[in-house]
Amino acid sequence: QPAFRATGLRKTYDMGETQVHALRGVDLEIGAGEVLVLLGPSGSGKSTLLNIVGALDRPTAGQLWYEDTELTALNDHALTRFRRAHVGFIFQFYNLIPSLTAEENVRLVTDIATDPMPAAEALELVGLGDRRAHFPAQLSGGEQQRVAVARAIAKRPHVLFCDEPTGALDSKTGIKVLETLANANAELGATLIIITHNAGIAGMADRVFNFLDGRIASIEVNETRIAPS
Ligand code: ADP
Ligand code: ADP
Repeated sequence: QPAFRATGLRKTYDMGETQVHALRGVDLEIGAGEVLVLLGPSGSGKSTLLNIVGALDRPTAGQLWYEDTELTALNDHALTRFRRAHVGFIFQFYNLIPSLTAEENVRLVTDIATDPMPAAEALELVGLGDRRAHFPAQLSGGEQQRVAVARAIAKRPHVLFCDEPTGALDSKTGIKVLETLANANAELGATLIIITHNAGIAGMADRVFNFLDGRIASIEVNETRIAPS
């Protein structure tokens, strides 16, 4: 059984006189534990799809299921519960709270999650066990992003949504962040859905969805996924 299944997803933004068709009919299946990369030009609909599948946003039309639950039939309250229970997000800019330490930033999530791991353990998993008491300003960009990864994995999510997770980092630091994501996939079995402009990242995916103009124009399958190196 796939983790996610969708048919006919459309998203249209009304901009006064004109409409923007961000998604023009997307069908998909995403396997549990799969590493999926969304590739394509700016404006082709990748973030829109990520936000819809991650239940941060709703489609204008179409249906979306997570396992046996039709997400497009849930009310806002139930969608929030779904996100809290199953989903973690990582964005290009780490969204850490500057006045809180690394551990306190992770605790924001573990304090309200259903089945979290201790914040300290999550920081260990991303290689920041010795940075627990540091504030974001005392950490490098890559370390801050790894705190964001720790925050996302601490609730043992079934799915991790990553929107340009290495976009603000140099390539060496980006690889370190990708390794922590690959670990989360291997150790927690988390499905990874990653938006990137970096074709190198596509090598670590099981499949690549190539977006063009609001549609999945083609799908590449990697028989032998390579670890980031
Ligand atoms: P990508 O992630 O591939 O760069 P997006 O999904 O962000 O593409 O955007 C797809 C299209 O939808 C673009 O034309 C973008 O300008 C438009 N769009 C995205 N979000 C909004 C919004 N909140 N309001 C209006 N248009 C939007
Ligand atoms: P909460 O459980 O605090 O109400 P939500 O249900 O809105 O949070 O979102 C669930 C998950 O999505 C949380 O892990 C939260 O950190 C993340 N999230 C949602 N929106 C954003 C955002 N704009 N920036 C960063 N993380 C977000």
